[in-house]
Amino acid sequence: MGYADLHIHSLHSFDGTASISAILKYISTRTDLNILAITDHDTLAGVSEAVELAPKYDLQVIPGCEVSTRDGHVLCLFVDHLIASGLSLLETVMRVGDQGGLCIAAHPQAKGVKSLRFSTIAETLQNKDAARILVGIEAFNGGLIITRGNPLIQKMAGVFPLAQVGGSDAHLLKMIGQGSFWFEGNTIQELKNAILNYTTIPRHGHGLSTATVVTSYIPAFLLKLMGWVSWNAAPDAPIRLTNWMKVRTMKAITESI
Ligand SMILES: [Zn+2]
Ligand SMILES: [Zn+2]
Repeated sequence: MGYADLHIHSLHSFDGTASISAILKYISTRTDLNILAITDHDTLAGVSEAVELAPKYDLQVIPGCEVSTRDGHVLCLFVDHLIASGLSLLETVMRVGDQGGLCIAAHPQAKGVKSLRFSTIAETLQNKDAARILVGIEAFNGGLIITRGNPLIQKMAGVFPLAQVGGSDAHLLKMIGQGSFWFEGNTIQELKNAILNYTTIPRHGHGLSTATVVTSYIPAFLLKLMGWVSWNAAPDAPIRLTNWMKVRTMKAITESI
């Protein structure tokens, strides 16, 4: 059996705080996940590095990103080309389909972050072509500070003909895996089959607490603004400890803002 977290942000998101190799190393040494997706906000900037490094960490990476549609956030997976932000959910889903990709509704109906409404998801699923592409919904999102939102999502997720998954929505190393899902098998193809057959089972993590935001995320975000991120000093040698190091240049930061 396999575990996947397909909702992880890296330094390539304006609000992410960890390098790609730090994320891979954390997952390989601190979690039982074997498949991940780096889903940065409206960018695929970190995907190729993640795909390239993953075998060194005995991990598998699904290329993707989190697109800001005008209706709310959606995870776009198995995509090689970026889809523009600001389109409707339906248009975004169809463009993902053109690339042979799949979509998962991220943190639906969540407060405090632009989220898809259940009614928009239902309308989009009326389109038969879209329904073959929008195939999953986060029944648990580890990044919701207002965790009261999760029981509602959990309840409503089962109403839709969609695979229910969990995602950490981690913007901080220690949140990775705090929201994931189980699937039969351990390969990317088996994961895809599980999503298409609605057999995924969400796994709840501890969720993002106010204390974690104050003591961990805000300091990490401020360090990020100063050019420091959680960094793996030896991306090719995952046994080494993760260090906080200044990014080689400010390029990655400026590109992601
Ligand atoms: Zn989001
Ligand atoms: Zn996210």
